[in-house]
Amino acid sequence: MSDPILHSPTRIRSLDTLFIKTYGCQMNEYDSQRMADLMKQAYGLRLVGTPEEADVILMNTCSVREKAEEKVYSQLGRYRKLKEQRPDMIIGVGGCVGQQEGERIQKRAPYVDIVFGPQTYHKLPDMIKQIRRDRVRLSETEMPEIEKFDHLPRQRVEGVSGYVTIMEGCDKFCTFCVVPYTRGPEISRPVQQILDECAGLIADGAVEISLLGQNVNGYRGIGPDGEEWDFTMLLYAVARVEGLRRLRFITSHPMEMTPELAVAFGEIPQLMPYLHLPVQSGSDAMLRAMHRGHTRDDYFAIIDELRRHCPEIAMSSDFIVGYPGETDADFEDTLDLVRRVGFDSTFCFKYSPRPGTPAAKSADDVPEEVKDARLQTLLDLVRGQAQEALQARVGRVVDVLVEKKGRNDGDMEGHTPDFKIVHFRGQPHQIGQIMPVRITQAFGQSLRGELVLAE
Ligand code: SF4
Repeated sequence: MSDPILHSPTRIRSLDTLFIKTYGCQMNEYDSQRMADLMKQAYGLRLVGTPEEADVILMNTCSVREKAEEKVYSQLGRYRKLKEQRPDMIIGVGGCVGQQEGERIQKRAPYVDIVFGPQTYHKLPDMIKQIRRDRVRLSETEMPEIEKFDHLPRQRVEGVSGYVTIMEGCDKFCTFCVVPYTRGPEISRPVQQILDECAGLIADGAVEISLLGQNVNGYRGIGPDGEEWDFTMLLYAVARVEGLRRLRFITSHPMEMTPELAVAFGEIPQLMPYLHLPVQSGSDAMLRAMHRGHTRDDYFAIIDELRRHCPEIAMSSDFIVGYPGETDADFEDTLDLVRRVGFDSTFCFKYSPRPGTPAAKSADDVPEEVKDARLQTLLDLVRGQAQEALQARVGRVVDVLVEKKGRNDGDMEGHTPDFKIVHFRGQPHQIGQIMPVRITQAFGQSLRGELVLAE
């Protein structure tokens, strides 16, 4: 494209600053960072910490949780006041709510200039140019074939970690979830693009890379040999990128777990022993109703296989309580699964219907007070497990990747291989190093330790 504005960091007069409000998952955090990169590259926009300071406000929304649309509209109401004071300000709504609601957003909130979906944010510079030139409002929510991956600036490293999206979208159509409708079908990036991006991140200072996608282990991308590579093949290749010390990925689907992936946890030294593997329920009836495509026994078999190859692996999961039709016995099955697997961390939610999903057509028939009680019971159980997992580290020496200064003066903060936060007395020059730390105390969600200094 020969657009002079897009090809130089020329600022459009009076647009200097950008504020992004991000909701939801790590994918959205990553997308927001890419939006910021894109806007910096196109217009020289500088990220600011408050909407009041911004010439452009972008909301990167998530529609997974309850009342997502209402939260967006009420936030927009606050931005409206800013726009009344400064009519030249640009307000955009992106992400899953943008995708789902489309032009409805501008009907309800006519001061919104741009609506865009997760697959179209690479068009933001063009859209901004057009609304400034033609004084129009735009809505761009079509889902082009992964064109997005081709238009984005290379990911920047913040601190010692880099994030690389390897695939987008979801074909699983769990009955409660909007993602397949908002992010479209699963599309994987070519292997070489991913390897190049990882190498670039490492050259920029990353020592840890997290591979991202709705179903990363559903990855099927074209390899440098022209053949289709699966996720495990990609992992081995990424692990060979010079300088990579730690490798993680999120999120995985039980249906896409393979024996080879379990073996990889035992074989790839850089692959950290931590896996977030959402199961949602421990009841076969619920798993069937949710269209999850696997049974509880399948889940147990996966965990056994993983622990056979990587005994120290820490498991994390997502749970929904109160899905339509969930009985006390179904919920007991969930508690039983949690007890049998033992999770180091979990994300638990009460079911609420998401508009446009198949589950939303069923009666939301579990009474709110029953959902509340089940959630509390589940939270008590998983918090107890998480606490035990932290407590079990006390006295051990663990390798901590030093990531940043801690909140208290003189403290540094980092993660263990199994993704537990550790604080210890240290020095800023240690950032980026992996250091042995003896764990001395366990708190609610983190550990404290002291550096093990060489004799
Ligand atoms: S696997 Fe299910 S829960 Fe996960 S993104 Fe796809 S449809 Fe949603």
